[in-house]
Amino acid sequence: MADAASQTYDVVIIGGGPGGYNAAIRAGQLGLKAALVEKRATLGGTCLNVGCMPSKALLHASELYEAANVEFAGIGIEVKPKLNLTQMHKAKDDSVEALTKGIEFLMKKNKVDVVKGFGRIAGAGKVEVEAEGGAKTTLATKNIIIATGSEPTPLPGVAFEDGKVIDSTGALFLPKVPKHLIVIGAGVIGLELGSVWRRLGAQVTVVEFLDKVGAGMDGEVATAFQRGLTKQGMTFRMGTKVTGAQTSKDGVELTLEPAKGGAAETLKGDVVLVAIGRRPYTQGLGLETVGVTPDARGFIANDHFKTSAPGVWVIGDVTHGPMLAHKAEEDAVAVIELIAGKPGHVDYDLVPSVIYTGPEVAWVGKTEEALKAAGVNYKKGKFPFAANSRAKINHETDGFVKVLADAATDKVLGVHIYGPQAGELIGEACMTMAFGGSSEDIARTCHPHPTRSEAFRQAAMGVEGWTMQA
Ligand code: FAD
Ligand code: NAD
Repeated sequence: MADAASQTYDVVIIGGGPGGYNAAIRAGQLGLKAALVEKRATLGGTCLNVGCMPSKALLHASELYEAANVEFAGIGIEVKPKLNLTQMHKAKDDSVEALTKGIEFLMKKNKVDVVKGFGRIAGAGKVEVEAEGGAKTTLATKNIIIATGSEPTPLPGVAFEDGKVIDSTGALFLPKVPKHLIVIGAGVIGLELGSVWRRLGAQVTVVEFLDKVGAGMDGEVATAFQRGLTKQGMTFRMGTKVTGAQTSKDGVELTLEPAKGGAAETLKGDVVLVAIGRRPYTQGLGLETVGVTPDARGFIANDHFKTSAPGVWVIGDVTHGPMLAHKAEEDAVAVIELIAGKPGHVDYDLVPSVIYTGPEVAWVGKTEEALKAAGVNYKKGKFPFAANSRAKINHETDGFVKVLADAATDKVLGVHIYGPQAGELIGEACMTMAFGGSSEDIARTCHPHPTRSEAFRQAAMGVEGWTMQA
């Protein structure tokens, strides 16, 4: 790396997560001289280090463990699995290490200077980086991209305490399976990590403020999803708020109240996972030096990724939109293309969501509730996995695909899947919608047999009432 302090960069990116590292790669591809500043020892941000990747490693391993425990015998494979949690964590940590090293390689390949240390904006065109040990370097740059991500939102009255009251990172490293894990928040993190520990043997109780699981998913899917998780052994306390926590050597006692008000009660567990959302991270960033003020919820507002300060841009979790790695990646490509004078653009209506439970939930576009609220006249096609031959053969018959299309034009407005490999299937819906496709486009496209993707086609056929296999 050339001496970082002795040159003027085209762009300095603060934060080495999916927003930051993808921006750095695209900058390299377009011939912009870029530096990536990261305070962690490894690149990859929340997603690679303590988010998407380690959680998916545990979801995969625990799914196999549960399958070996309860499903294998039924298909004629007799085994007695024994949990080796230390090895499960090691396999996860090894995968994470390989992935974060992969990002270091991509930075070299794209001629990006990686500067390790805490980045602080020090006025227009200047980023000061403080390395571990205190040494400071100032980088001069034409553009600054803020990609500092987010952190877990704490719950007032329920203070984090190592090993007892934990956030998602704590739940990725538990050294033993809790007897009773209480999860606060039936959103993505609560249901994914709750599933991991239930499969590995914990009793899991989920306490949720709202009456619906899944933080914004389609209502019909949410009902089926909660029913499925309950059948697997998770317990739900819906419409309930947590007002306090008392820790002792035996665990944690939570005080609960109905969300609408009413008598308090207590619930005891040995570990409590607080998963009530994430909040933007801007601590110590020096925003005041360029006159940028976060909004009331801490997000940095943007107009086509521009902040209120000239030459200062913002992407990913720290600005508005879904807090997802692939959204941060879309932002990253668009912001660099705009900086390079190209027409960068993101269609936030087409950012898919996936919950990697078993079965998975995936969706893109509008929910039925949103269409109704907007007064849109829509048609609906629905197909159950119980009627899909591949799902039947694999004993994965829970769930359905739902396709929502405009009643007048047939344009697909939303696709909602609860079922096996929903996360893989949703890509086809994203592509259809990105091309402005209709339900008939899907219905008249030949799909391979026997695959779960046929359920998607059959649901699309259902929009015009000609589903053939159910
Ligand atoms: P981050 O990934 O948070 O990266 C920001 C980086 O900036 C961090 O590395 C941080 O150390 C660094 N930083 C912050 N301030 C400074 C500073 N001043 N100087 C230097 N460095 C700084 N999303 C999905 O799409 N799919 C999933 O399956 C998924 N699973 C998840 C599971 C869990 C348990 C969690 C917690 C999150 C998950 N997410 C998932 C969300 C996903 O991780 C985030 O949406 C994504 O990481 C956001 O990317 P980002 O680049 O905006 O921020
Ligand atoms: P979330 O927004 O998905 O869910 C939080 C849940 O907590 C909601 O259901 C909310 O109603 C509930 N809640 C809020 N306050 C509460 C309270 N006081 N008591 C009880 N319940 C309360 O948030 P999360 O699960 O923490 O995830 C954070 C972010 O990380 C999400 O934006 C998500 O997109 C991202 N993430 C994504 C994935 C994925 O893509 N598979 C996985 C994990 C995390």
